[in-house]
Amino acid sequence: MIDDRRSADVIVIGAGLSGLVATTLLLEQGRSVILLEAGEYPGGRIRSLRDAATGEVLGDLGPTWVWPPYQPVVVQWLQRLGLPTFAQFETGNAALDYGPSAPVQFQPLPGQHGIARIAGGPAALIDALVAMLPEGVLHTGLPVTAVLANDKGVVVEAAGREFSAEQVVVATPLRVAETSVNWSPALPDDLAHAMRATPTWMSVHAKALIVYRKAFWREKGLSGRIASQAGPLVEAHDISGQNDDPAALFGFVGWPHDMRAANKDRLDAEIIAQLVRCFGEMAAHPTQIHVEDWAANRFICAPGDLAEPMPHPDVGPDVLRQPHANGRIVFSVAEISDVSPGLIEGALAAGMRAANLVSSSCS
Ligand SMILES: Cc1cc2nc3c(=O)[nH]c(=O)nc-3n(C[C@H](O)[C@H](O)[C@H](O)COP(=O)(O)OP(=O)(O)OC[C@H]3O[C@@H](n4cnc5c(N)ncnc54)[C@H](O)[C@@H]3O)c2cc1C
Repeated sequence: MIDDRRSADVIVIGAGLSGLVATTLLLEQGRSVILLEAGEYPGGRIRSLRDAATGEVLGDLGPTWVWPPYQPVVVQWLQRLGLPTFAQFETGNAALDYGPSAPVQFQPLPGQHGIARIAGGPAALIDALVAMLPEGVLHTGLPVTAVLANDKGVVVEAAGREFSAEQVVVATPLRVAETSVNWSPALPDDLAHAMRATPTWMSVHAKALIVYRKAFWREKGLSGRIASQAGPLVEAHDISGQNDDPAALFGFVGWPHDMRAANKDRLDAEIIAQLVRCFGEMAAHPTQIHVEDWAANRFICAPGDLAEPMPHPDVGPDVLRQPHANGRIVFSVAEISDVSPGLIEGALAAGMRAANLVSSSCS
């Protein structure tokens, strides 16, 4: 909701996982916070398709997996928020797909050690964090366009409104922040360069979610997994709910962004044709198919992300983790993290780090 409060101790820009964690921890420290989100919903890259009538989560449109044995920060927050995990379904044969003119081959494929799913999907993290926010903290539909820092504090402009604070946490993708926000004073060269050089993990990808009445592939001894050289899905997995309900598959679309954008209807039809090829005629009758194209979201994907291949995230330079403008500006997004950069674990760690940094550099 929007209230009339225009000033706080801290403004957090971006209500993805890292921004929500930073906000939660700053509020716990007794700081007042305004959280400004450009989109119409919080969660950023974490998003679910929900049943229009019941609100039931049908599947993830952003991230799906965590790796608890290797991700202590994820474990810490899942415990704190009371969210259980369950195993990724991997039982049975995977389909090796070589396209319409070659037979599909079936064989087991090894799963990843420790891979797990969060009950209710990663959106359950977002829902739990948003539910804890006091009324009036979160403002959606307000893209920040300017951050003006001086000796007295920070002024943030968003959709024609001005907000002021002592400090600001920038919890947006770095390339988006560098290209779409007017910074005064200008960002230091080394920081601007590091922001431009940091791709936003998975931002150029599109994820297809295909929902069915039941997980019919399991009855055929199939895992729901596809590895394909032909596409349009280059890989697919079973993403059914914890007790096999709802039944669903998801896949990553191999077509490049411009081809996806120009052929939306054909994409849906070709995905179904591929699933029929791999899993049989029952795959022709989903209750829903949804393709979430993250490259079309300008608050997630910057032109620089579209211009080059997306490397696997690496730990970025220290300048991204340091406070700027005499402690008035701190960054918090998964890509700045020095643990699991680009991942859910990185977003949680970045939010924790930002909240600590804001407090320790409090003027
Ligand atoms: C398809 C896909 C699959 C993925 N799979 C996995 C997985 O299986 N496991 C895993 O660990 N991770 C995965 N990830 C990565 C994971 O989603 C991210 O690490 C995590 O969600 C990042 O959270 P964040 O808060 O750091 O950033 P974001 O989620 O990007 O949040 C940034 C927020 O800033 C907002 N914003 C941008 N510009 C402005 C502005 N000017 N003003 C105000 N707000 C603004 C955005 O709208 C957004 O809400 C996946 C991502 C995608 C897209």
